[in-house]
Amino acid sequence: MTHIYNFSAGPAVLPQEVLKQAAAEMLDWHGSGMSVMEMSHRGPEFISIYRQAVADLRELLAIPANYQVLFLQGGGLGENAIVPMNLLGRCAQPATIDFVLSGSWSGKSIKEAARYASVNVAARPAGDAFTSVPPQESWQLTPGAAYLHICTNETIDGVEYNFVPTVQGDTPLVADMSSHILSRQIDVSKYGVIFAGAQKNIGPAGLTLVIVRDDLLGHALPICPSAFDWKIVADNESMYNTPPTYAIYIAGLVFAHLKRQGGVAAMEQRNIDKARLLYAALDFDDFYANRVAPENRSRMNVPFFLRDESLNETFLAGAKARGLLQLKGHKSVGGMRASIYNAMPTEGVQALVDYLNEFAGR
Ligand code: PMP
Repeated sequence: MTHIYNFSAGPAVLPQEVLKQAAAEMLDWHGSGMSVMEMSHRGPEFISIYRQAVADLRELLAIPANYQVLFLQGGGLGENAIVPMNLLGRCAQPATIDFVLSGSWSGKSIKEAARYASVNVAARPAGDAFTSVPPQESWQLTPGAAYLHICTNETIDGVEYNFVPTVQGDTPLVADMSSHILSRQIDVSKYGVIFAGAQKNIGPAGLTLVIVRDDLLGHALPICPSAFDWKIVADNESMYNTPPTYAIYIAGLVFAHLKRQGGVAAMEQRNIDKARLLYAALDFDDFYANRVAPENRSRMNVPFFLRDESLNETFLAGAKARGLLQLKGHKSVGGMRASIYNAMPTEGVQALVDYLNEFAGR
């Protein structure tokens, strides 16, 4: 069988070692006689899996002690409602939430939050396309805003922040890091809330990670479902309701694997190298084009177009024949997209680059 490289935006490629370990432990986890899927979330076996996963994540991201790590459900889109329901109780009503519109996902966050408060789009792109992060000097922030929401890596548009914005007063910074968490070092202390769906760099779909500063707990609106009230979830070690246990287990294996790889710093260097390799092939001549401003090009999601779009289907068929899968771009953008998350090996990027060059007749 041809070796497969999966460039899906998510659910996405996971480390082979993790999948092999999960397979080996599937029927009998550590002599317990059962699969992790069958264990009580309140039993000592699962509690140990959960605590190790949290400890490893804390170490990987150097999460300060005054932040909680929560494992929830509801995905990134769920958080678009869960964040306002948890934070709006902090400030006088009517409240305003600031947003920076940098792509499709921040756009969805704006629409959802508008159901709970008035929203101020502090910055948006100059034209129709999402090809850069609006520079912070241009942002029209609201004094006393309930929070400022950004999406630090726009999965569909391939636009990634290369700076951490400064906020005014005690307005918390909220970041949707779904598609690049653990791919680069971050200073957690600059954020009030970080959230991420798991299905890119963390593990299987169904698990949502929230990292929240302690002082932002306990302000949920009365309408907030208890199972999504971060304080209740934190007080119950993410086990107020039954958490997605198997997804947490796989995430734990991914965290342990990342530590063995040298942690986030080592991963970041690999990601820089992989992205450089791919963008260089796209920039070589005008056969292909990536339209994102160089300083905001995502290291994780690389959208690109063929100069002659009538060749799209031929390109995709040839890619598939070589085991290069899921390269079709998102329907709202068109063209192609290669997602090269942590678990995409350099050999996979090299195989794509070889194909790009071959297809362009270089
Ligand atoms: N935010 C970002 C940046 C995403 O990439 C995605 C999913 N691709 C979402 C939010 C939505 O996540 P979910 O489908 O888990 O709700």
